[in-house]
Amino acid sequence: MISHWKGASGFRLFHWISLVAIVALLAGCSPFQGNENGADNGPAPAKPEKIERYQGEKSKAVSMVYTTQRQLALTFNGMADKDTMKRLLDELDKYHIKAAFFMPGMRVAEEPDIAREIVARGHEIENNTLNKSDLQGQPYEKMYQDIELTNEVIQRETGKTPRYVRTKSGEYNDDLRLVAAHNGQEAVVSSSLFLHNWQKETEADKRHYLRKYMNRGGIIEMDTEENKSVIENIRLLAEAATDVGYRFVPLHKLIAQGQERKPLQEISGFDAAKMNVAYDEAKPNLIYRKETDKKMVALSFDDWGTDQTVTKILDILDKKGVKASFFLRADGVERNPNLARAIAEAGHDVANHTYSHPVNTKIAPEELQKEIVKAHQIITEAIQQKPTMYFRPPTGAFDEQTLKAIAATGYKDITIYDVTPSDYDKKRSANDIVKDIMEQTRSGSVILLHMLDDIHTIEALPIVIDQLRSKGYTLVPMTEMFGQ
Ligand SMILES: [Zn+2]
Repeated sequence: MISHWKGASGFRLFHWISLVAIVALLAGCSPFQGNENGADNGPAPAKPEKIERYQGEKSKAVSMVYTTQRQLALTFNGMADKDTMKRLLDELDKYHIKAAFFMPGMRVAEEPDIAREIVARGHEIENNTLNKSDLQGQPYEKMYQDIELTNEVIQRETGKTPRYVRTKSGEYNDDLRLVAAHNGQEAVVSSSLFLHNWQKETEADKRHYLRKYMNRGGIIEMDTEENKSVIENIRLLAEAATDVGYRFVPLHKLIAQGQERKPLQEISGFDAAKMNVAYDEAKPNLIYRKETDKKMVALSFDDWGTDQTVTKILDILDKKGVKASFFLRADGVERNPNLARAIAEAGHDVANHTYSHPVNTKIAPEELQKEIVKAHQIITEAIQQKPTMYFRPPTGAFDEQTLKAIAATGYKDITIYDVTPSDYDKKRSANDIVKDIMEQTRSGSVILLHMLDDIHTIEALPIVIDQLRSKGYTLVPMTEMFGQ
């Protein structure tokens, strides 16, 4: 470290001082405070500068951003060796990605040239704590000093003030959020995917895995020191984003467009579904199709899929000017609320298909009601409004008791279908799907499709819409056909 102190320039001097300060802090004695043990041990202590707990608001905690824009952010932790960092920056340039680098203050002090190069290439520099640690269990004062000193080093060496803080693991507690605010940071940032080392995955496995995490508003995280494939992963991530039609944007831009979400209890209709043990008297309304001579049909989509699949379905419907009905599996919605909101924003019906997709006749009525109420709440919170109060039982299985149990929760309309091309079967080609639909559909039909990955529905969908229209059918959402 001493070798850094060559010239006598103020810059190098600061550099040396910051390293000494850091080392002292890491060793447990604050360089700013003198010695609390007093006269036993060296010179008289300077008056300790006590750090009071911050009285203002905590910083935000961000692991993903609430937005339906087709954007996500790429972030890194740590500072690998110079060669790796250089190759990483070149690779990011190649794919036109601007990323956020969470940098340990210690490493910035050691190799400020790397930090400056990151800034020069248009990336963000953020606070990764002094020595990329977790800071868990540390007293407030210690955490404060760690974050403050890291900010100072980054500011002095790069001229940039970090907006965000992130610990080694991404974990944080309320004190860290308070410390971040105390130091002027907007948010403590974790991630929607922390991408660790691959094991024995093939290229196809890696692509398949990454596809799941190409989410609107997602924050991808990698550690430049830990992840041995950090360079290779840039290409994989860039291609995965291109496949779904999403774009990596700078983290602060992603965060800036994030919307505030109302808590569940503030959304009107959040309690429209309730547990109800007195279900014997419930009056379910079972719907298969509408008795009508009007040439109208409804398209419905069940279950859940990746952004890639669902966004493609939304784009086809949008291009063709069709509104449809979506029955969502809420465990998927829970992990990816932005995608559910994108469906609702596009003007489609968003309805309930349970939380975890159990066969309704194989679970107790109370369990079924729990599934429905939980799904209702998750979907309501995700789309920030009351969903369409239609329920569709997984696999279409029901009996009298399950119908009553469902209706008693508030979901009186149990909406089945009469056209079943079995598109969930990967072996069914687009032609098979189109053929079945065209053979089975009549006026008032409800067509069952799925938004699962790797099936042929996306190929079949535009053909189905065109052929139905050429037969004189109008495509309407189920709410238009059956009311709500
Ligand atoms: Zn299903």
